[in-house]
Amino acid sequence: MQTYDKFYINGEWVAPNGTGTIEVIDPSTEEVCGVVPSGDNADVDAAVAAAKAAFKTWSRTSAAERSEIIGKLADKITENMAKIGELCARELGTPLQASIATHGGLGIGVMSSYKEVPFEMEKEEQIGNSIVIKEPIGVCGFITPWNFPLHQIVAKLAPALAAGCTVVVKPSSDTPLTAYFLAEMIEEIGVPAGVFNLITGPGRTVGEAMCTHPDVDLISITGSTEAGIRVAQLAAGTVKRVCQELGGKSPLVALDDADISATAARAAGGICFNSGQVCAALSRLIVPRGKQDEAVAAAKAAAESVVVGGAFEDGVTMGPVASKSQFDSVRGYIEKGIEEGATLVTGGAEMPDGRNAGYFVKPTIFADVRNDMTIAQDEIFGPVLCIIPYDSEEEAVEIANDTIFGLSGAVDSGDPERAKAVARQIRTGQVAVNGGAFNVAAPFGGYKQSGNGRELGPHGLAEYVELKSMQT
Ligand code: NAD
Repeated sequence: MQTYDKFYINGEWVAPNGTGTIEVIDPSTEEVCGVVPSGDNADVDAAVAAAKAAFKTWSRTSAAERSEIIGKLADKITENMAKIGELCARELGTPLQASIATHGGLGIGVMSSYKEVPFEMEKEEQIGNSIVIKEPIGVCGFITPWNFPLHQIVAKLAPALAAGCTVVVKPSSDTPLTAYFLAEMIEEIGVPAGVFNLITGPGRTVGEAMCTHPDVDLISITGSTEAGIRVAQLAAGTVKRVCQELGGKSPLVALDDADISATAARAAGGICFNSGQVCAALSRLIVPRGKQDEAVAAAKAAAESVVVGGAFEDGVTMGPVASKSQFDSVRGYIEKGIEEGATLVTGGAEMPDGRNAGYFVKPTIFADVRNDMTIAQDEIFGPVLCIIPYDSEEEAVEIANDTIFGLSGAVDSGDPERAKAVARQIRTGQVAVNGGAFNVAAPFGGYKQSGNGRELGPHGLAEYVELKSMQT
């Protein structure tokens, strides 16, 4: 049980103004595993004031100084990889070993990838009689979700630090413990006071106060499309830059020359990663109609080999979903899929056998899904895969793009060039060809209602930069 009763503001642990508390629930057991304070507008004011004051000096540090801080933080995260994995296993429910590798590993990978990026700020461009210089945008408000408790903060913090910005972070109330640990690591390595500030509280109050605060220059939100829209509306009143990293309903298109069994097995395994709570999850498997049966058999076998259980139990390969509301929502979608006439191949809305506590959901596969069904259109954010048959390559691309989202996608084919040609037609911010691996240095973000931001790698710096033309 981890109890925090202070916020990290201006390099100090300070008592909150808000008097409420937030209980953190371990989704494997439904027991309370932590308590953090719930802030209010005065806490937002204090954190923003600290960030604004610190910006004066931090924005003028050299690239070498900022690179050194980023390097130290990357080393500290590396040193604490196991502890991060343990915290994420506890508050999110990812099985311990996977949690160390994924949640610890991503934090290390992303923070390390930014060591050289501060030097990009020093590059100037001459255009005619103008010198174009880069400056940090200012005070940044970060609103983050629970599905990757460390990564979602680091993906914003690393470029912000590289640019010379200062930040106020409000993590999800479901997973604040990892964020608190990050603040402790930041304190330990001696990041200057006020550069990083942490407050916790509900999106509707604390988050919204950040979005309307006149001294916040940029808001970056990773979360649902609904929250992203609300944040943008509120931030418009003070003309902030808004970066949105939102939901997805990503397609995996298997062309007719793909090894369909291998593709389907990978899709079923993939949708169980982090219990399907991955914004870029490939949740629609689009297959040639004549090969649907083969896909179903392979996906069924793969889903049924997943071992569901508590994050700290031996041999478990998929943990619970993160919260009671996720649990209710995912099971509601499974019921909806059955109601709408999709074929339930395996899984279902009942708890897995032998479980009566914990937010466990069975890996669930639907076949004969039509793309206009709710389960094919809404982001379920759980271990639920929809198999959708198609009759021509053209139709496959149409189905893939027939969604309000555009975050990720994938194409499998026996011919990599053919796969690449189809991949170019998928309207998403990233697309994997024949299982191409996630790259922490490549830009990540959405088309359409998946957002307007691009995080990660050198491209991720742009969100935090103002360009100034100096005419000479
Ligand atoms: P959520 O939208 O409920 O919450 C995200 C964050 O926004 C939380 O910190 C929450 O407190 C805050 N928030 C909610 N309403 C707000 C408001 N009105 N004003 C200000 N802040 C508000 O999302 P979640 O359930 O935490 O996360 C899951 C969602 O995040 C999914 O839709 C998923 O696809 C998305 N996501 C996107 C990416 C990406 O990079 N595109 C990555 C991970 C998750």
